[in-house]
Amino acid sequence: MSISGTRGLVRVSKNLSCVLQAAMAVEGVREPEFYRRLIGREYPGEYGERLSARRRGNKFEANLHQNNAALLRRSVGPTFGLDPEVMVVRNFAEEVPGPPTTMRAHRLARMRRVMADLAAGKEVPDLVIQPQFALPTSPDGARFEYVSPDFAVLDPKKRIYVPGEEKSFIVRDRVVEPDDLDLTRRQAAAQILAIRAQARQMGIEKRVENRAVFVFATPYGLSPAPAVVEPLHAEVHELRRALTVYDSARKMLARLRAQGAAPLEMLADELPRNFQESCYGSCILAAECERQARHRAAVMGDDAAQLVGGEMDLRQLIRLVVRGTSDRPEDLELVGEIRRASTALGLTENELLRRLA
Ligand code: SF4
Repeated sequence: MSISGTRGLVRVSKNLSCVLQAAMAVEGVREPEFYRRLIGREYPGEYGERLSARRRGNKFEANLHQNNAALLRRSVGPTFGLDPEVMVVRNFAEEVPGPPTTMRAHRLARMRRVMADLAAGKEVPDLVIQPQFALPTSPDGARFEYVSPDFAVLDPKKRIYVPGEEKSFIVRDRVVEPDDLDLTRRQAAAQILAIRAQARQMGIEKRVENRAVFVFATPYGLSPAPAVVEPLHAEVHELRRALTVYDSARKMLARLRAQGAAPLEMLADELPRNFQESCYGSCILAAECERQARHRAAVMGDDAAQLVGGEMDLRQLIRLVVRGTSDRPEDLELVGEIRRASTALGLTENELLRRLA
């Protein structure tokens, strides 16, 4: 699986200071292959979504889409004041089947026609399954990534499509695991930006709000819970920042290659990394980056790194704590903070130094 498109942008949004990861997303690398080229051996762990989880997701989507998307209509229709029994559905997966390399451009052209009809006040479908949008990734709009929500539902009052995600995560008491939800919300934020970009071309940008609709599974088989509409202001803000980082990484790669084409793995040492705890579970290079950052405060965890600054060299930090003096007032303040924190935790000075070391 490559980290391109929405997946790459979501990853960048979770670690905005890691230029290497942004470059990986720009180039759409396949992580295990890139790992092999960079590190010189196969990735030793398990990679990617578990087969069982993927099967469950596919089954859930198939359930929602069968019989002219009957279950999906019943889940989202009432949320938008639409009668599920008369909703008009277009399913682009059926209209334009095929691999991503051939079908995306065709689906995008169809979706643009639907959006043009919407702007012109004509009749449009209430529900589009697997619509296609394009999210500009450069300020001039010349570069873009394809963005594909699971569906888009028409809000008949605002006359605009709202992106929708179908997830087989289980909802209990209307609650989903926060980690599962975070990625989904960021994905949806990229979709909002893509719909807004499309709407801008049609002069209806103001209709697009920072919200998306989610359809999760109930604990009873793979039937859907009623759809929920969520505001996504913070996520849209993070994705906007990710687009800026993405563009900077692309420019940096162009500068580095001005003297001659070089594969990304040859440039990796020139691209700043920002190891943080969350790299585990999201990036295949986590163990390697942690090893490289072993003298930096970042390896102590995100809370500690926030206190002293992730780039702080641990050896310098130990010297500071032992000496207890410095010409720089900010260093003294930092040592004071660390001592106060360790006292609150009940650590002696020796124990503190042992832990830092
Ligand atoms: S593991 Fe390394 S390359 Fe990946 S996001 Fe973290 S710091 Fe960046």
